[in-house]
Amino acid sequence: MANIYIEPSNELPVYAECDVLVVGSGAAGHSAAVAAARAGAKKVILMERYGYSGGDVTGAYVLMVPKLSWKTLPFVRGIQEEWFERMEKSVPGSTWGPRMEDIGKQDKTLMFRWSHKMDTVSPSEPKMLVRSVYYDGPQLEVELDLMLHELRDQIQVLYHSWGTKPIIENNVCKGVIFESKEGRKVVFAKVVIDATGDGDLYRQAGVPYEHLSDDATRSHAITVAWRVGGVDNDYLLTWRKSHPEEWRAANKELSKMVGFSASLPSWDEPFNNCLVFNKHLGMDCSSIADLTKAETDTRNTIRMVIDYCKQAIPGAYRNMYLLSIGPQTGVRCSNRLLGEYVMTPYDWAFATEHDDVIAWHSTICRINDCAPIEIPYRAILPKGVDNLLCPGRHLSADPVSIDWLNLIPQCIGTGQAAGVAAAIAVEKGTGAHDVDIRAVQSVLVDQNVPLPRNDKVEKCYTELVEEFQHGLYTDLAKKARENPDEFNQYRQG
Ligand SMILES: Cc1cc2nc3c(=O)[nH]c(=O)nc-3n(C[C@H](O)[C@H](O)[C@H](O)COP(=O)(O)OP(=O)(O)OC[C@H]3O[C@@H](n4cnc5c(N)ncnc54)[C@H](O)[C@@H]3O)c2cc1C
Repeated sequence: MANIYIEPSNELPVYAECDVLVVGSGAAGHSAAVAAARAGAKKVILMERYGYSGGDVTGAYVLMVPKLSWKTLPFVRGIQEEWFERMEKSVPGSTWGPRMEDIGKQDKTLMFRWSHKMDTVSPSEPKMLVRSVYYDGPQLEVELDLMLHELRDQIQVLYHSWGTKPIIENNVCKGVIFESKEGRKVVFAKVVIDATGDGDLYRQAGVPYEHLSDDATRSHAITVAWRVGGVDNDYLLTWRKSHPEEWRAANKELSKMVGFSASLPSWDEPFNNCLVFNKHLGMDCSSIADLTKAETDTRNTIRMVIDYCKQAIPGAYRNMYLLSIGPQTGVRCSNRLLGEYVMTPYDWAFATEHDDVIAWHSTICRINDCAPIEIPYRAILPKGVDNLLCPGRHLSADPVSIDWLNLIPQCIGTGQAAGVAAAIAVEKGTGAHDVDIRAVQSVLVDQNVPLPRNDKVEKCYTELVEEFQHGLYTDLAKKARENPDEFNQYRQG
């Protein structure tokens, strides 16, 4: 069998021309399209391979957004908070977790109320409430479409369209070839945003990138989530608290049985439903074989898991039944851009300041006690090709720090910034590399994104990080300053 086929050259119809083309409508791409339109881009095209927006956030049954606040202030706002404000207004009760007004409170009753929900109470002393939001996935899916609908004069949505190849001429990205039921066509754009999560476009643009995350990170696993109904969540919660050893043993036994890291249904949702997560470790989420194996291994063992649960904790699971299986597989990291700046643990340990900061985010990383770090524009800017931006979980980071950057808030934050930068580059007639970064920062602040060293941002933000010396006070940070060689391994790339 020949292992190469030379595809004959042919002519492709041009489907459209636009100012900004966003490929992928996950957290990053959806935010990029919305932000670009709000920043004035007249014609935005949002291309998505599936028939809905959200990516992992909706299709892979992810259900919570962590660490939007640090100490007493909400550092992550912008489109991220807008999701929840809109949902609560349309469908009260479709989000839950500590409220905005409770951030930083040390109220024992409130902390007890949320203590069983991950990331809602600060890990360090003094314990206080942290804004982390749990949400109803299908309601979010509806909300994301409504946001696009409101901007329908500026954003054209192309669902069921798979971006397959960037068009690069003289090191400038000019558009994308895509596949759909209508065949192979072209969209030309002044700026292209690769928000596919897997670098589907930048990988073919000849720019530097790396594959996978460190194998000790969370991101080195594929998850096929599913839902069950009929669980007695109150019983389950009490049982887990009083039987921690038995709970651990049951999870271990279940994993042994199915042959991958599995857990008993444990994420309590309203209406006695539960989410079931698993981890297929050491897999490459951009490999056809690995994706297929993770999905079929999960489905082939679902009935076994249900039977096991019923027998292990009948009080909780006696009436449990399979409700649904996530329509898309949950993937965290396949490819990482090696862009104009590569984020490393140094940025957390030393609180690096960036002149081109586009997001100032509290994160899940514990080495600086989850304090805000600065993400620069250069982390979404590929080397060597202009007019291509790469926000979201495939941004420029080393194999370790990608694990702290591929969370929903950072995907939305970098997506929102990419959209604004693209709109401003188009408006001012510059390339994405030469964009007026001060104008980008100014519009971001107007879009409710707090940024450091910006006159329009309330002073209390700077005062708070200065009071705690940004995050340079943890033992690990001190160790890194005293012995930088130990950390240099994370600076490569
Ligand atoms: C199981 C699991 C649990 C997680 N838990 C949490 C959590 O609790 N909290 C948290 O904050 N984060 C969590 N994460 C991480 C977070 O959900 C994701 O990293 C984040 O949502 C990724 O957003 P994204 O837009 O960069 O990528 P994606 O969500 O992957 O979006 C990419 C979009 O592009 C589309 N696409 C891909 N390729 C193409 C193409 N070639 N053409 C057209 N469209 C394309 C996809 O269909 C998708 O809609 C979790 C992730 C997983 C997998």
